[in-house]
Amino acid sequence: MTSDYGFGTRSIHAGEEPDPSTGAHGVPIYQNATYGFDSFESLEAWRNGAPHFLYCRASNPTVQSLERKLANLEGAECAVATASGMAAISATLLHLLAGGGHLVSADDLYGESKEFFLEDLPRFGATVDLVDFTDLAAVEAAITPETRALFTEAFSNPMLTVVDLMPLGELAKRHGIPLVVDNTLLSPALLRPLEHGADIVVHSATKYLSGHGNMIGGIVCGARDTVSGIAGLLSRLGGPMSPFNAWLLLAGIKTLPLRMERHSANAMALAALIDTHPVVETVHYPGLRHHPNHDVAQRLAGGCFGGMISFALRGPEHLIGQFLDALDLPTLAVSLGETSTLIWPVTGGNLIRLSVGIEDIADLETDFASALNAIREPAPTASSNGVSDVRLDTR
Ligand code: PLP
Repeated sequence: MTSDYGFGTRSIHAGEEPDPSTGAHGVPIYQNATYGFDSFESLEAWRNGAPHFLYCRASNPTVQSLERKLANLEGAECAVATASGMAAISATLLHLLAGGGHLVSADDLYGESKEFFLEDLPRFGATVDLVDFTDLAAVEAAITPETRALFTEAFSNPMLTVVDLMPLGELAKRHGIPLVVDNTLLSPALLRPLEHGADIVVHSATKYLSGHGNMIGGIVCGARDTVSGIAGLLSRLGGPMSPFNAWLLLAGIKTLPLRMERHSANAMALAALIDTHPVVETVHYPGLRHHPNHDVAQRLAGGCFGGMISFALRGPEHLIGQFLDALDLPTLAVSLGETSTLIWPVTGGNLIRLSVGIEDIADLETDFASALNAIREPAPTASSNGVSDVRLDTR
C-alpha cells in the first residue's frame, strides 16, 4: 500500500490483503511451525532465491503482514516483529554493538532498558555511557571513536522528558552512527521518529500498538540492511513474535489513531485537573505549558501528547496508599497504553505513574477529584496498606 493514503486508512489496510488461498477477509493466524514445498523443484527454486516460507522462527505470513503494516506506519523500509519490547531493544543493540562497541544512551529511560545497558551489555564486551539527552553538547562530548549508536526514548518512561530528535539525528549523522529511538509512549500515530532524523525505531508493542493488554511483543523498524541483520540475530536468539500475538496486534492497530487521540484528550484533561489540586506537588505531562519540554513536544507530536502522566503528591509517602485506595476506576498495575486506566507508584519517593485510558473523561475526572480530595486531611496512621511492600518498577 502506498503512503498516499492517510494514517487512519493505512492503520486498517497496510500489510493486509485477502488470504490468497481462501479469500478470507482479515489476515488469518498461520499457527504452524513449518512450511511444505510441493516438489523438489520448488525447494531448489527457493534455494536459488525464490520466496517461500520455511520455518516459523524465521518467518510467518501473519507476522509478515504485521511487519509490513508497521513499516508502512513508521515510514520505514522494513520491520521485524519480536517476542517483546525488550527483545526488540536487546536484539537491536547486540547487533549494533557487536565486537565491543560503545553506546551513548539517554539516562532517563524505562528501568529494564537501563538495566540491560548497564548490567548485560558490558558482559558482552560493550561499554555504555548514560547522559542527559536534552543536552546536545553532553551527548556529543560522550561520543568516542568506538561509539556505535545513540539510544533514547522520544517521551521517557516515567518522567515524560521529551527529547528533540532532529538535532540528535544530525549529530548522529555527522558521526556516522545510527540514532535509535524507543517510540513506545507515543506510537507512530503521534510521532514517526524516522521523519525527525532517527535511523531505527523500536517499540514495546505490548502497550499502545496493541492497546488491549492482551499480548506481549515488540517491533524494530528501519533500513532493510540493518533490520535484516537484526532479524537474523533475533531468529538465532529465538525471539520472534508468535503468530497469535501478531494477529492480536493486527487487530489492535486498526484503531490506533482513534485510541491515541482519545488517550491524549483524556490525559490532557486529567493532567490539568491534577495540576491544580493543592495536594499535588508536581505534574509531568508534556501537554502542560509549564512542562520544560512543552515546545519541543508540540513540534514533535502536534496537539496530542499521549496518555502518560506522572505526578508527585505533597506530604508523606503513606498518602500515596490512601490516594490509590480511594480511586475506583484505575487498576493498580504495571504496564501502560491499555484502553483502561492503569496506575502505579514508582520506586522510592512519591512519584505516581498514570496511564490514562479511554474511559469517559467525566468519570475519570470525578474519580480523581474525589480521591485527591480524600487525602486533603493528614493521615491518622503510618502506611499499612501494603503498597510500600510491592516490588516497584516502571514497566
Ligand atoms: N520500552 C518502554 C518505554 C517500556 O515502557 C517498556 C515496558 O514497559 C519496554 C520498552 C519493554 O517492553 P516489553 O515489556 O514489551 O518487553
